[in-house]
Amino acid sequence: MRSTCERVIGTRKAEEDKGALMADRLRFGPAGVPPSFRAMKAALSDVPRLLRGEGLDAIEYQAVRWGAKPQIKREDAEKLGLEAKKNDVWLSLHGSYFINFCGGKDVIEASKQRLIACATAAEWMNAHIVVFHPGFYGKRPQKEVFRNCLEALKEVVETMRTLGIKNLNIGPETMGKPSQFGSLDEIVSLCEGVEQTQPVIDWAHLHARDRGRFRTVDDFRRVIDEIENRLGTEAVRDVHCHFTKVEFTDKGEKRHHTMNEAEYGPDFTVLAKVIAEFKLKPVIISESPILDVDAIKMRDILQKELGR
Ligand SMILES: [Zn+2]
Repeated sequence: MRSTCERVIGTRKAEEDKGALMADRLRFGPAGVPPSFRAMKAALSDVPRLLRGEGLDAIEYQAVRWGAKPQIKREDAEKLGLEAKKNDVWLSLHGSYFINFCGGKDVIEASKQRLIACATAAEWMNAHIVVFHPGFYGKRPQKEVFRNCLEALKEVVETMRTLGIKNLNIGPETMGKPSQFGSLDEIVSLCEGVEQTQPVIDWAHLHARDRGRFRTVDDFRRVIDEIENRLGTEAVRDVHCHFTKVEFTDKGEKRHHTMNEAEYGPDFTVLAKVIAEFKLKPVIISESPILDVDAIKMRDILQKELGR
């Protein structure tokens, strides 16, 4: 049992731990295996090389339907990890959708198991981060939900440590519906309170949750400023992001759209200006319906902005 004092110190991430986990440069990639790779019946271990061929250098493996155990063989996960390393492709893993840290005791316990299963497989892959959706408020008061989330996440990280999973961050994601736990403030607060975590900024989700909040450069700047002020310069510089255009209603996120659909936001060219201005080097995962195609489009927009 650690003392209270150690616990407080432990809430801030150790800088040397973070070094290995943070992105080394601006990177782009798809959320999952692109449809064109599937069409050519590519094996999972071929995916990093194929992404390299497209000039992409990240991928978020989708473990979104997993239960209490990893649903990938250890040897397949390790093979993917080796190929990713060989091709300099940054690996992250999107955790199970069946996680709810805002529910009753049994739901929270099962959710912890699922997140640990995701972390276990992520470690086999040598992935850098496990992204997850914290849950739904239900009828519980917001403060209680936050407390439960924080405790559950601390316990997950402690279990990871006893399992020897150290070079992996857990990334709670900003969510697209007001009924979901996951405002920017809540996600940053979780990361302030739990070590071995980093915020995952889903720009489309924030846009939908707040009914179209991103229009000007300042709208994007405010998010960057808040992360920097609360979690530090390094946390914001290497921030892990999801991006797609999104359709929303009063209930928040409705559908993802492609970069070509001008009627939907947010506009990546505006975010690109802010990334260039702050000299950020995020990992940007495309969640567009045409995953890799739009990842390439975003990469090209940003390179133009950077004058490359
Ligand atoms: Zn997500």
